[in-house]
Amino acid sequence: MFLLFDIGGTKTRLAVSRGGKNFDEPKIVATPRDFNAGILLFEKIISELSGGEKIEAAAGGIAGPLDRGKTKLINSPNLSGWIDKPLKETLQKIIKAPLYLENDAAVVGLGEAVNGAGKGEEIVAYITVSTGIGGARIVDGKIDRNIFGFEPGHQIIDPTGTLCPMCGLAGHLEGHVSGVALETRYHKKPYEIDDPDVWEEEAKWLAYGLNNTIVHWSPSVVVLGGSMMTKSPGISIERVRYYLEHTLSIFSELPRLAKAELGDVGGLYGALQLLKH
Ligand SMILES: [Zn+2]
Repeated sequence: MFLLFDIGGTKTRLAVSRGGKNFDEPKIVATPRDFNAGILLFEKIISELSGGEKIEAAAGGIAGPLDRGKTKLINSPNLSGWIDKPLKETLQKIIKAPLYLENDAAVVGLGEAVNGAGKGEEIVAYITVSTGIGGARIVDGKIDRNIFGFEPGHQIIDPTGTLCPMCGLAGHLEGHVSGVALETRYHKKPYEIDDPDVWEEEAKWLAYGLNNTIVHWSPSVVVLGGSMMTKSPGISIERVRYYLEHTLSIFSELPRLAKAELGDVGGLYGALQLLKH
């Protein structure tokens, strides 16, 4: 039996896989703000899901950048209580089995690349636009080799621009395009914003970021996930494509732009894939 998890800034999803091919009905809970409370909750859910059966290995993601050895979270505005806490070590002790930890967006990207909108493509650029921006480059069904992970939300698109909600530095993509950026600017949740001009502006800034991602990562498809891409009101993929057609002319064609398909459980599909490697 294998354990799969996805620790998001708001929700945590856990599931077990019996054969390594698919997984049972996931358990979805609010992510505790406190690390120790989180571990206690994990322990309880793991015992419920496994029914006491031996877990052979576990894999999953957590929202934020990890340390070099991928053992703990080093930064995160939403999960500040989890920063620098020995997540991998503690969970391994509970399950008494090896555990593979990754950045959550990278794991969802892996799921989308193998089972979702990027299926069959060699090089997938996955970008999620929700509270913040995350993403990863997936090559041949694996998260591309990296030292510190991928952080496309913190690329500079306007050095004189708005401050980044996560780093507090000027001009990062996440400072222009994200749920937090919109809330800071308009004092409303993104789903409450029905002014088409706001979404048009978001599409344009996102296209600047994707322009950079595409010229650096050279993907065959860009999979766009996250509530600001998949829900309405939100950013229109067609408008992003329109702006990209004007900014990106160095390549003979634009990569395909596709909406993520796996919804809430993309990270669990990705975790399953992570276990195979
Ligand atoms: Zn930043």
